[in-house]
Amino acid sequence: MIDTHTHTAFSFDGKSSLKEMVLTAKKLNVEYYAITDHCDLDYRHIPEYSSVKQIELEKYIDAVTKIKKKYPFVALGLECGYSKKAIVDYLQIVPFEKFDYILNSTHIVDDKDCYNQPYFKDRTKKESYERYLLTVRESLEVPYPYNALSHLGFVRKNAPFEDKSLRYIDFPEIFDDIFLRMIELDKCLELNAHTKGHGFMPDLDIVKRYRELGGQHLTYASDAHIKTRICENYHLAKEVALIAGFRYWTVYRNQKPIKIKI
Ligand SMILES: [Zn+2]
Ligand SMILES: [Zn+2]
Repeated sequence: MIDTHTHTAFSFDGKSSLKEMVLTAKKLNVEYYAITDHCDLDYRHIPEYSSVKQIELEKYIDAVTKIKKKYPFVALGLECGYSKKAIVDYLQIVPFEKFDYILNSTHIVDDKDCYNQPYFKDRTKKESYERYLLTVRESLEVPYPYNALSHLGFVRKNAPFEDKSLRYIDFPEIFDDIFLRMIELDKCLELNAHTKGHGFMPDLDIVKRYRELGGQHLTYASDAHIKTRICENYHLAKEVALIAGFRYWTVYRNQKPIKIKI
């Protein structure tokens, strides 16, 4: 088993300590386990989120580097929240070369966190999902390094609509544009299980399209913020990956891809 996206108490919303997370992963025999705590420099530009506790990067890097020496299946990652306004901060603050794996995540769209209800105020489902996807497309162009696009479809997670689903056929042109650019840049697509039991982000139809267009890199992510969720729905994710036509997961060491048989 692998798990390429997990959080610890170094994140403002992480519930288990670094040690607890790693020991649980070890017990589960996870062969590659990335810790990807939040770096939310995007939040600093939005007054209502500017008080959210930022990660203490130096302490975090030291602690994970130390634990990696004892448990070599651990990888040092970082989840970077995208916003155009934060690009300069990322370039100045994050020592990217120290990491095994960088996630590019879109949470903030039009200066609002699209997990929270104010984002959806006065927008139809189509408008709110489209603005999210266009922001994801924009995020692919950041000038700092990253390896994978995280939780594509995050906007649906807490959306106030009866049918929250996000399908390929709803936005085929935008999805194709995202995937063709990812393929050109050799970026990995993440199959994220943090959906409160509603499949994966993204769903199978979208993963299939990435593959059809020539996508080579897919990975599995629990996005666990607590030790009990590590590798959640891993076996279902394997099925989705196999049906979509993938035979290998991609994981990263020193930001270089490694293939692991699914
Ligand atoms: Zn995220
Ligand atoms: Zn996360």
